[in-house]
Amino acid sequence: MAIQRVGIVGAGQMGNGIAHVFSLAGYDVIMTDISQEALDSAMALIERNMARQVTRGRITEAEKTAAQGRISTTLKLADLGQTDLVIEAATERETVKQAIFEDLLPHLKPDTILTSNTSSISITRLASRTDRPEKFMGFHFMNPVPVMQLVELIRGIATDEPTYKALVEVVEKLGKTAASAEDFPAFIVNRILMPMINEAVYTLYEGVGNVKSIDESMKLGANHPMGPLELADFIGLDTCLAIMNVLHDGLADTKYRPCPLLVKYVEAGWLGRKTQRGFYDYRGEAPVPTR
Ligand code: NAD
Repeated sequence: MAIQRVGIVGAGQMGNGIAHVFSLAGYDVIMTDISQEALDSAMALIERNMARQVTRGRITEAEKTAAQGRISTTLKLADLGQTDLVIEAATERETVKQAIFEDLLPHLKPDTILTSNTSSISITRLASRTDRPEKFMGFHFMNPVPVMQLVELIRGIATDEPTYKALVEVVEKLGKTAASAEDFPAFIVNRILMPMINEAVYTLYEGVGNVKSIDESMKLGANHPMGPLELADFIGLDTCLAIMNVLHDGLADTKYRPCPLLVKYVEAGWLGRKTQRGFYDYRGEAPVPTR
């Protein structure tokens, strides 16, 4: 089945990036959100990010204009009815995602492929609540979407081969690389990355090192481009904690126990860059370690 029209639900951090890359790859994109403000800021962000790509010579002005012309926005979920592929990228809460699919289903064509960009929720469980579990998959983009090369493709237990193959083709057309993951908590990237970040927080909690020495050790000693605590601030400490909880609950192994210090930072509302304070304080000119 040829995929041309793509619907995106949720115009936040991930939704705008997904709209950006699909429109540049030639797809017609219709993006929806419950907030007009979110839609407006997503369009403004796409404009800024594409303009930067033009400045750097990555795309031409004509490609930018054509891509932007392929994106439309709506507050009505039903307007996604004629799409060939839906990518749900709304808030990471299972009830929110379930309600979206429930409201969307009556308007959809029978062969529309449904996907979710969830970082941690079971694809099989989301799929089981729809009328087409065989046409449902996890489609996990990395942040920031226009920059990151990888896309994880997660098959639910019922996902059929044509659906999987269709998404492999889409990833190729986007110029990205697909990694296939089975539907177990946090898939591949976060299953490996989050315990490392959590261990870095334990290292801090137990006083083995401070913020600066831990980040420097991993940058200079393991050749990581960012230190684990710096990276945690970038991802969001609430997100890191939520993923650790999914691993802990889903795999029932104490090795995934979230570090109490991570819990404390989240309780304080120190969530990282988005709140201007996490393992670093971002309110001044340069980030200052908080421990
Ligand atoms: P975000 O908070 O930036 O954006 C979520 C958007 O969803 C908001 O604009 C909100 O208004 C909208 N929304 C909420 N309920 C809605 C509804 N019923 N209908 C339509 N829109 C609705 O979140 P995000 O960081 O873009 O994350 C979105 C999804 O992507 C989550 O499932 C998350 O786990 C996943 N994800 C996030 C990252 C990341 O690094 N941020 C990376 C990979 C995957």
